Amino acid sequence: MQTIDCVVVGAGVVGLAIARALAQSGREVVVVEQADAIGTVTSSRNSEVIHAGLYYAPGSLKARLCVEGRQRLYAYCAEHDVAHKRAGKLIVASEAGQIEGLRKIEANARRCGVDDLQFLTQGEAESLEPALACAGALLSPSTGIVDSHALMLSLRGDAEAAGASFAFLTAFAGATLDTDGIRIDTRDAGGETFALEAAAFINAAGLDAQALAHRIDGFPQGLIPRQWLARGNYFSLPGRSPFSRLIYPVPVEGGLGVHLTLDLGGSARFGPDVEWIDRVDYTVDPGRSGVFYEAIRRYWPELADGALQPAYAGIRPKLSGPGQPAADFMIQGPADHGAGRIVNLFGIESPGLTASLAIADHVVELLHTRL
Ligand SMILES: Cc1cc2nc3c(=O)[nH]c(=O)nc-3n(C[C@H](O)[C@H](O)[C@H](O)COP(=O)(O)OP(=O)(O)OC[C@H]3O[C@@H](n4cnc5c(N)ncnc54)[C@H](O)[C@@H]3O)c2cc1C
Repeated sequence: MQTIDCVVVGAGVVGLAIARALAQSGREVVVVEQADAIGTVTSSRNSEVIHAGLYYAPGSLKARLCVEGRQRLYAYCAEHDVAHKRAGKLIVASEAGQIEGLRKIEANARRCGVDDLQFLTQGEAESLEPALACAGALLSPSTGIVDSHALMLSLRGDAEAAGASFAFLTAFAGATLDTDGIRIDTRDAGGETFALEAAAFINAAGLDAQALAHRIDGFPQGLIPRQWLARGNYFSLPGRSPFSRLIYPVPVEGGLGVHLTLDLGGSARFGPDVEWIDRVDYTVDPGRSGVFYEAIRRYWPELADGALQPAYAGIRPKLSGPGQPAADFMIQGPADHGAGRIVNLFGIESPGLTASLAIADHVVELLHTRL
């Protein structure tokens, strides 16, 4: 049986960043990916926003890894010519009663280490963005957008340059803890099975992370958290965007509210909303547009009837369900579960793209003392 230092399951942005960091730290790395390419699941079904890190609980992994990851990501993109733009974002109060909500976001952001927010009056906000209607806004200058696929290609290139190899069309089928490490069983598209012996195993399977963990023989099953799925639907707007910055309402339960994000070509899309579902299904129901028109017209009254087109959806792998307080990322290392050199990444929803480089360093650190 082939023996290697690290097996990473999942070639989304998080698995790629981890593979890169492990390979660059001198480990032999194999990435096992069931699709035929990198980034075909949640990493290509998101808003591509580089989040500043405003909303998360101070001290949480989301807060820390978002702020650190954002700084790392801007530097990485500049250094590696990955298309991105520090476009800035406005969080808008649609009515005077929401200004208090903006003040709370500003205070929370400060506690998370983000101190560049600027409070704008109605006149200041509307002069920056003439199509906007609001009672006041917070400007986040360090929010931006990134070409997520270019980022993933670059991370893959770095990982391969440092010696990592990729096994595509290869699914993780199960693992067993043994005295030498972890035996990982895989199955290729033709049904052929292949086993690897690894000193460390990183489960970066996104929506499938819990299912994978349940298939590790010898892993304490009681430590695997429950997963909820929340679909985020997007609608696109043909033509040029009426705004040059990202526009967000005050957040809602489970998500950030129907916001406007931009792509690097200057087009606008709206979403994601929050739709709790019980199985993976990416169909966007055109009937949801009614809720979108209503939410968007609170900050952009000029939105014309019939302008929105159903676009795509992504699914958040959540660790909290409807009505529950937002859960943090759960990144379990050897010290958390005592079951060998395994790292499970559960609940890596937003800001996972922004945080990916910082998540990778965190994983390397969790394994550091044990490799
Ligand atoms: C609607 C939405 C909007 C978002 N917007 C943003 C945003 O604007 N900014 C931001 O920072 N974050 C955002 N996020 C979060 C971000 O997209 C994710 O955190 C990130 O993409 C997660 O990457 P990942 O590598 O963990 O998972 P994935 O990209 O899902 O990768 C997991 C990989 O594991 C593979 N896999 C699964 N099971 C197996 C198996 N058995 N064997 C082999 N391979 C397997 C899959 O094929 C997949 O390639 C958003 C998420 C959603 C859903």
